[in-house]
Amino acid sequence: MTRARAAAALVLAACAAAPPRPPGPPAVRLDRAWPVMGTLFRATATAADPASARRALAAARTAVVRVDSLMSTYRPESEVSRLNAAAGTGAWTRLSAGTAAVLAAALDLARATGGAFDPTVGPLVRAWGFHGGEGRLPPPAEVDSLRALVGWRTVELGGGRARLGLPGGALDFGAIAKGYALDRAVAAMRATGVAGGMVDLGGQVAVFGVPPDGGRGWPIGIRDPRRPEDVLGTVVLEAGSAATSGDYERFFEIGGTRYSHVIDPRTGRPVRGVAQVTAIAPDGTSADGLSTALFVLGPTAGPAWLAANRPDVTAVWVADPGGRPLDPADVTVAGPMADRVSIDLP
Ligand code: AMP
Ligand code: MG
Repeated sequence: MTRARAAAALVLAACAAAPPRPPGPPAVRLDRAWPVMGTLFRATATAADPASARRALAAARTAVVRVDSLMSTYRPESEVSRLNAAAGTGAWTRLSAGTAAVLAAALDLARATGGAFDPTVGPLVRAWGFHGGEGRLPPPAEVDSLRALVGWRTVELGGGRARLGLPGGALDFGAIAKGYALDRAVAAMRATGVAGGMVDLGGQVAVFGVPPDGGRGWPIGIRDPRRPEDVLGTVVLEAGSAATSGDYERFFEIGGTRYSHVIDPRTGRPVRGVAQVTAIAPDGTSADGLSTALFVLGPTAGPAWLAANRPDVTAVWVADPGGRPLDPADVTVAGPMADRVSIDLP
């Protein structure tokens, strides 16, 4: 090799080894918010010009609205509602690729968690009053009979269609559809060629590309479950998603006991002892599904499950402190980004 060639090769090698330089702040940052999926959808785009940012935000909104129309159990005409209406009749319901993908992901997670996560938990969610109704304590006999309707093995999925085996069975994508919607929103924004973006559906976020300050990542706050307006910690995400399941999102109290909307399908009852779980994953569907699954598995079994099944995911559990203030000992962090999660408790 000539000396000039050798020098060029060295320069190339140096370029390949150096981390990419942050490109500097993008020219434009645009934020929008719309009510959708029973919550607020917020989107931020960073771009070279306002028209590109606007295009990206409109595409994100369209993507989320479409997921809601396909998968909401609050809409009788959605694919999931039609599938539920046909439960136990033997009839198949045709599914769009998106709904089939979410159902497949939910069934995979159900299998991997031994049923701690279960998309057929619908009848129990309704019985406890977490599907638009009033919170109530169903009698144990009712819980037992509904538990017989819950089980991911009652779902058949294949060839773009699905059916539920038992009459009265019902899918509920409340634990996973928002994350999938974030994935579709990110894909739609990326397709417009925008520099970067952040999408947020009721506290579940996904980010990609260049942040508004042109730095290396998007700072994400982790809420304090007992003071949800405050943050308990932060993590800086370059890309991917963070989803939080909290016992303060939907709950009721009877006799001083808090009953919250994450149900352990194995007992048929709301999970006790956990206040919040945040899951940080490469994609929104995983983060959302796992935030709920790890809430059920809890901070004792959860970290080992994560290491064995999803070593790419980081999670933060906050134990229910009862009446006293939160303490650092209530917080468990596990996973590859554990060092980058800063917890700010006295
Ligand atoms: P998230 O806020 O993502 O944890 O989702 C909670 C919602 O998921 C609840 O409101 C129910 O609709 C549903 N859900 C509750 N328990 C479970 C469970 N064990 N597996 C799957 N979905 C659940
Ligand atoms: Mg979830």
